Amino acid sequence: MSAETPLLEVRNLKKHYPITKGILKREIGRVRAVDGIDVSVRRGETVGIVGESGCGKSTAATTILQLEKATDGQVLFDGEDVTTFSKRELKRFRRRAQMIFQDPDSSFDPRMSIGESVAEPLYVNGMNDRARRREIVGTLLEKVGLQASDADRYPHEFSGGQKQRIGLARALSVNPDLLVADEPVSALDVSIQAEILSIMQDLQDEFGLGILIISHNLGVIREICDRVGVMYLGQIVEEGPTDEIFTNPQHPYTRALISSIPVPDPHRSRDEVTLSGDVPSPANPPVGCRFHTRCPEIIQPDGYSFEQATWRHLMDYIYRVHDQNIDVESIFEGVVTEQEGYDDIEEVPLEAFETRLREEFEIPPSLADGTAEQTLTDSIELVFAHDLEEASAVLSAEFETVCRQEKPAEIHIEENHRASCHLIEQDTTAVVESPATDD
Ligand code: SF4
Repeated sequence: MSAETPLLEVRNLKKHYPITKGILKREIGRVRAVDGIDVSVRRGETVGIVGESGCGKSTAATTILQLEKATDGQVLFDGEDVTTFSKRELKRFRRRAQMIFQDPDSSFDPRMSIGESVAEPLYVNGMNDRARRREIVGTLLEKVGLQASDADRYPHEFSGGQKQRIGLARALSVNPDLLVADEPVSALDVSIQAEILSIMQDLQDEFGLGILIISHNLGVIREICDRVGVMYLGQIVEEGPTDEIFTNPQHPYTRALISSIPVPDPHRSRDEVTLSGDVPSPANPPVGCRFHTRCPEIIQPDGYSFEQATWRHLMDYIYRVHDQNIDVESIFEGVVTEQEGYDDIEEVPLEAFETRLREEFEIPPSLADGTAEQTLTDSIELVFAHDLEEASAVLSAEFETVCRQEKPAEIHIEENHRASCHLIEQDTTAVVESPATDD
């Protein structure tokens, strides 16, 4: 195996869950939890996958370790595709690739001593010499900052941070090459988090491990990772060396995540970027760029130059109309309850309805551009008449964005730094690596 061959190389990995209906379990859709990710980890390297809850990162971890069967793609470990492994080969692979879980409390059997828990993988892998097992357990406990004599104690006698150290000791007992850690410190106090991350780094230095760390916390990723992949709705939208990602983020989602990291200095503040709504369902991901329903930097149609926040609010309204997801009655009722002079929704005139709708979507009372304003008022009149379908057609004809029309291609910005966003495509110095495909 060449020194350059990554320890782990994930290619176009997909994990879809079928949505079925009826007794025949006919497939009527798919939850695309992981939808074509590429990740690699070299020996001695720590790579992070970061994203909000619901973006698919934990499913990526369990699928990489074949705890769940991949729908498609390859997981090459030392050059061999583990998705094709037999049971016996998988057992060997799982010894070399260990997982650390988020919740240290649920990782241990309360009836087993810590020594028995840490020694269990050794026993399962054929080490029958009890004295040798105990010796190894003692050494490992000391390596993670505990004492060899702690082996005789039980899980309830330890704090969360200590249990996560013990979890590390257990993972290391079988001398793995790769650690996959899913939110390893998010259940711990902030003061303990740094200790655990530092132990992980020390162990990596000592054992030359590859580490894949999954976290929603970019602060944790910055602390420990050499490279980071930013994941959104089942896909990696930006990937690169950690320093480069933090100093030169290219994707609006990465910029939003970075802006949400707390600043330790009380005299400084960072402008936190607010994202519209929640992560959409992976059963029905948005067309075009998957982030377009929330992106604060969504590209405006040719010929328009709205204030960007106004454009975002306008798009929030437009997408709700497209999805037929506006509660028209509640807008009428809002007028009746909050404005004097109306006893019944039947009495609410278009002007009052329009004012209420604009307030709800934070759209200004009037748009500066005459054509845009006319299109908007035409659409509101149709919403007022409960004709959301026609309102959607009117809005589509005027306000289409490339972010919704086309999936952005993956662009190489610097060596080892790639991202997928139409804004980068507008920079002609960037190199387009692969055409966008979506199946
Ligand atoms: S392609 Fe458009 S919506 Fe997607 S991240 Fe870039 S600017 Fe935002």
